[in-house]
Amino acid sequence: MNTYRNDALIGGTWRSAPATVDVENPATEVSIGTAAACDEAMAHAAVAAARKAARDWGLMPPSERAALLDALVQELRHRRDDLVSVTVAEVGVSVVNARAWHVDLAIDLIASAAGNARTYRFEEAVGNSLLIRKPVGVVSCITPWNYPLYQLAAKVGPALAAGCTVVLKPAELTPLSAYLFAEATVAAGLPEGVFNLVPGSGKVVGATLVAHPDVDLVSFTGSTMVGRQVGAAASANLKRVCLELGGKSSSLVCADADLAEAVRASVDSAMLNSGQTCSAWTRLLVPADLYEDALVIAGDHARSLVLGDPRSEDTDLGPLISAKQRADVVTVIEGAIARGARVVAGGPERPGALGHFVSPTILADLDPSDPASQSEIFGPVLVVHPYATESEAIDIANGTPYGLSGAVWSGSADRALAIARLLDTGQVDLNGAAFNPEAPFGGWKDSGLGRELGVAGLEEYTELTSVQR
Ligand code: ADP
Repeated sequence: MNTYRNDALIGGTWRSAPATVDVENPATEVSIGTAAACDEAMAHAAVAAARKAARDWGLMPPSERAALLDALVQELRHRRDDLVSVTVAEVGVSVVNARAWHVDLAIDLIASAAGNARTYRFEEAVGNSLLIRKPVGVVSCITPWNYPLYQLAAKVGPALAAGCTVVLKPAELTPLSAYLFAEATVAAGLPEGVFNLVPGSGKVVGATLVAHPDVDLVSFTGSTMVGRQVGAAASANLKRVCLELGGKSSSLVCADADLAEAVRASVDSAMLNSGQTCSAWTRLLVPADLYEDALVIAGDHARSLVLGDPRSEDTDLGPLISAKQRADVVTVIEGAIARGARVVAGGPERPGALGHFVSPTILADLDPSDPASQSEIFGPVLVVHPYATESEAIDIANGTPYGLSGAVWSGSADRALAIARLLDTGQVDLNGAAFNPEAPFGGWKDSGLGRELGVAGLEEYTELTSVQR
């Protein structure tokens, strides 16, 4: 595949941008390609192309849209090996995780959107009314670098299924997988202008897509800080907005849980994608009398994780995305140590000469109000806290500005569910239950607005008309 790109897909045509940006491999710090740095005019042209295509695409029977999404799934499957290798190269994620969580899951989300387009009741009778769910129109999708393909699939699949047309701006650091996705949309035969790709900066392309009067909905995933700006700018024009933002989620281990299983799974969650996962469980809450035992298990497990070349099948953790991200994470770890944190595993030292690596780090003896336990670190760092009573544990879990995910571990399924009911968060996994791509995904509080995935994700992209008869 060609990773040296300078173009954007606008209305079915590849158009050259006035400039490009380098794409770095975070494991080697070597440039692996370029992407277009589109300007404002290209963002405007993409919105115009999406608007032009919106009427026919929105009126197309959902089953026909679903058939085109099925074709897109096939085209993505043909490109699976390229998608995996480009994801490993631009994100630095281990190849095992790139396959499972970045590429296969993303393809599954497009397949899920096709299925939901087929079965969703776009029209429903209520008394003497017919409720018609129509596509909201033109959607700007703005995605981050942590799971580039998954993030775009979670937005683009349901938006297209609902009958919306899309302009996608991928993150500057990870645009290459989006090019492969865009090529797949062309090969699948999606009509011109239904999907448009305009790589570029957040300040130029992103801000234009958020404020554009002809955009009906902005779907953004990224930091809470930028999310607030995006929400404010979109609301100024009364645009619909869907925001998937940060998280600081707790894994709450009850006294009757299998401690070793719960602690190891929590370490794995905190370290997945080198900790650059918004829904990761980055706080581990254990009964006070099991605290030291839990720290031994967590430390041993963190040290057993293999850090290294993301292309190796044996690697668990690759580097962080960038030198800046590494510096930010190291600053948080150093600050926590200065405030008295015990380093159970890992720490701020650089584990190798090259690449933006941070060792899997376990911190203990911090107050739950400590910044390391309150702010989203977005690095491989787990903070462990003891609790005296379950009600205190629930207060600790709910005591952050976020509410994205969480976990409860207990020998009793009923007890685990009773605790889950008290957590102010978008999703809770009981005893290591599997991720469900049909379950609504999204956050409370500073974690955002709206839901992605499944039927709820599709409904985000619809608008209601009630017809009385
Ligand atoms: P992350 O650090 O996870 O990439 P950001 O919030 O910085 O999170 O960026 C997420 C996405 O938002 C990226 O595609 C970025 O280019 C884009 N972005 C950044 N600033 C803006 C902005 N002011 N308006 C719209 N999009 C933006």
